[in-house]
Amino acid sequence: MNSIRLPFWPTFLRSCRLRCPRCGETKLFTGWFRMNSRCECCGLNFLQEPGFYLGSIYFNYGLTALVVTVAYFALYFAADLPGNTLLIGLTAFCVLFPLWFFRYARSLWLGFDQYFDPDP
Ligand SMILES: [Zn+2]
Repeated sequence: MNSIRLPFWPTFLRSCRLRCPRCGETKLFTGWFRMNSRCECCGLNFLQEPGFYLGSIYFNYGLTALVVTVAYFALYFAADLPGNTLLIGLTAFCVLFPLWFFRYARSLWLGFDQYFDPDP
């Protein structure tokens, strides 16, 4: 770990844009679920080792659980929606949101890794 730590905000914003967290030039994904293998500009390996992206599940699950919990209490008590309506709506959210957030979770996980332990 002799590499220089990347600055936090540029790394975070590049991850939010689904770009290489090191240089911000290359897109991480070529399709909805398919990733490029490495950055064309700086050579960062996007695929890392097998199992690397298991950690991105924490981001995906954590944000989904947080949003559902806050939405449930907000809609139940403030908007006074019936329980069944909330159950159907939030269950649909629990299925669809992680699919949409999949790419962002992976990108944020790679950025998180590059911020704390940058590849040489
Ligand atoms: Zn790059």
